[in-house]
Amino acid sequence: MEGIVTERAGQKITVLIPEESKEYRGIPLGKVRKKEKIFAGDYVEGRVVDSQTFAIEKVKERKNLLIRPPIANVDRVVIVSTIQNPPFQNYLLDNLLVVYDFLGLETLIVFNKVDALDETGKEELKKWEDIYRNAGHKIFRTSAQTGEGIEELKNELSEGITIFAGASGVGKSSLISKITGVELKVGEVSSKTERGKHTTREVRLIPFRNGFIGDAPGFSRVEALNFMEKEEVRNHFPEFLRYECKFSDCMHLNEDGCQVREALKKGEISCERFKSYLKMIHEYVDWLNEVCS
Ligand code: GDP
Ligand code: ZN
Repeated sequence: MEGIVTERAGQKITVLIPEESKEYRGIPLGKVRKKEKIFAGDYVEGRVVDSQTFAIEKVKERKNLLIRPPIANVDRVVIVSTIQNPPFQNYLLDNLLVVYDFLGLETLIVFNKVDALDETGKEELKKWEDIYRNAGHKIFRTSAQTGEGIEELKNELSEGITIFAGASGVGKSSLISKITGVELKVGEVSSKTERGKHTTREVRLIPFRNGFIGDAPGFSRVEALNFMEKEEVRNHFPEFLRYECKFSDCMHLNEDGCQVREALKKGEISCERFKSYLKMIHEYVDWLNEVCS
C-alpha cells in the first residue's frame, strides 16, 4: 500500500493512507531504518500491520528536500509579506523568489493583512503589486482576519504539497488556519524556531483538498548565493529573461549591448528589483544613480 508521511517528530512517524483516509504510526522496517532518513512529505510503500501501525518497506525517490525544517516533495511555496506591521522587506521577498524558483518550485506572492492598511499603506501596496506583476509573478491580497482573498488563494492550492514562507509575524500561521480550518498556535511556534530556540521543530502536513499544506514555517532569511552560483541568479528574475543582450552570458552590469540596462532606462524593469539583484550578487554599478534616481 502507498502512503505519505504527514508528520515526523523525533522518532514518531505518522503515515496517511489516502485510500483509507486514515493515519497510522509508521514503523520503518530494517532495510529502510538503516539506509533511509524519513521526512514529512515522503511517499512510502508498505503494509498495515494492525489498526494503528503501518510498516514502511520503501521510501520513494524524492523530488526535492527542503531543510530547516525538513520537508520532502514540495510543489509550491506561498511567500507571505505584509506592507505594514511588519514593514515590507522587498529584498527578502526577492531572495525567496529566486531561491525557490531555482529549486524548481512554483511561487505565489501573498500580501496579507490588507485589512489593516492605512492610506499610505494602500498606495505602497499598489506600487509593489505593479512591480511584481510586471515582473511576471502571481499575486494575491489577503486578510486572515476578514477572509478577503482567501478563496482565490485556496483555489491555487488544491493539488500537491504547499508550504508557506516569509518573515515572522506576517500571518503565515493565521493564513494556514484560515485555509485549512485547523487551529495553529498563532504568533508562537514560528517565532521560536526563528530565534533558534527550538532546533528540531515538528513538521506536519495538513490535508487540504487533493493536496497538503505544510505547517512548517520555513526560511525567513535566505541568501541566494548560499544556494547557487552568482551567474545563476539572473536566470531567476523572470523579467530579465524577456531581453536578449548582445552577449548571452551578460550579467547586466557593464557589458556592451546590455538590453536589461536599456529596459531599466525605459522603466520597463523596476529599479527596486534590479537593486535587489545587485545586492544578491554583491555587485555595484556606477551608472545606477543615473538610471534609477
Ligand atoms: P507568522 O509568524 O507569520 O506565522 O504570523 P502569525 O500568523 O503568528 O500572525 C502574527 C500576528 O498577526 C498575529 O497577532 C495575528 O493575529 C496577526 N494577523 C495575521 N493575519 C492578519 C491579518 O490578515 N490582518 C490582521 N489585522 N492581523 C493579522
Ligand atoms: Zn545584459
